[in-house]
Amino acid sequence: MTTSPPLLRADDAGPDRLKALLQRAATGRDGQAWSDLWTELYHNGSLDPAHPLVLPTLADLAETDEADTAAPALHLAGALLVQADQQHETRTLRHQYAPHVARLLDAANRRRQVTTDRNDYCHLLEAILNLEGDIHWAEALFWGLISEEYELDCPDPDGCATLWVVLGERGHFTSTEDHAHADDADTFPLHPADPRTLRGLGRRLHDLALTDAHEDIARALTHAFGQATCPECRQPFSIAAQIATVPN
Ligand SMILES: [Zn+2]
Repeated sequence: MTTSPPLLRADDAGPDRLKALLQRAATGRDGQAWSDLWTELYHNGSLDPAHPLVLPTLADLAETDEADTAAPALHLAGALLVQADQQHETRTLRHQYAPHVARLLDAANRRRQVTTDRNDYCHLLEAILNLEGDIHWAEALFWGLISEEYELDCPDPDGCATLWVVLGERGHFTSTEDHAHADDADTFPLHPADPRTLRGLGRRLHDLALTDAHEDIARALTHAFGQATCPECRQPFSIAAQIATVPN
């Protein structure tokens, strides 16, 4: 049996690398450090999200008054927890760091009231849902609100078409074309939910957005939790239910 010196060195270097990146991220002015943390903790897993430095440090950063550190700390922590839930099919990471997750969630709910930028607010609601851990499609839900479109499959069992749900400045419609190529002939209008009849998650998010003076997000949520029409088979379907089926 042979050993692998490069791998051993990488393992040994992990905690030092992690510590250095977290320290750089804590300055609030080092976007590259946050980008590297996303890559190495989330995308390629070369650093371990269960390391005792990760969630406790992110909780510390989330509690600062500096949006430049608090907001990315909340976003990353939420994403790491959801990814761990899905990869391990257990909630071990959440349970292991339960006090820190509770601190992160408190910090996120405090930041809701002072976050005025639309996209920052979307990322914050995403982080709250991810920290709570009840659903695993918050990233897809809010990514669509930020980019103003969802790419979804028709819910027809035969998967009749891939379609685009556009909601934003260019209108509110479905099309089988990316909205850049859509013309009026092949688009179908969305049917937003009546805010008074919204239930469950849609109701809660809509009311949070209104409470925090993000009326445009509240309005966009009535579309995301409303109905769309498949341009191919003309069947109506629930947009949110279809977002929930998209694998991360
Ligand atoms: Zn269809």
